[in-house]
Amino acid sequence: MTVKANCHCGAVQIEMSEAPDALLECNCSVCGRYGVKWAYYTTDQVTIKAADDAFDFYIWGDRTTNFNFCKTCGCLTHYTAAEGQDSDRVAVNGRMLTDRKLLDSLPMKYFDGRDSWQMVDKLPVEDAN
Ligand SMILES: [Zn+2]
Repeated sequence: MTVKANCHCGAVQIEMSEAPDALLECNCSVCGRYGVKWAYYTTDQVTIKAADDAFDFYIWGDRTTNFNFCKTCGCLTHYTAAEGQDSDRVAVNGRMLTDRKLLDSLPMKYFDGRDSWQMVDKLPVEDAN
């Protein structure tokens, strides 16, 4: 069953072929700041319905990934492979899911992108001391 996601103002609409099995939270320098919950797909499973100029992207580091955000409301909606990358991965920000009950009911997975670069049961919390 298709599921939908949208940014706050609605300029970016995303349709996925099915609900994700889980959402992934990562604490790396960029994901940890965005506070996203990623739902992973391939390009054939995702349709982006938005004007060409509705969103812009942020790219950094080794320039493999475009972090796409709505130019109107600023919501980070999805990431896509940067131009020239041989990847069909698309990750949708689960926090944009139109169905808020679905968002809250999905199991969470955690990736320690800040330190160990591994899946973990729980993201480590830095000791304040
Ligand atoms: Zn928007």
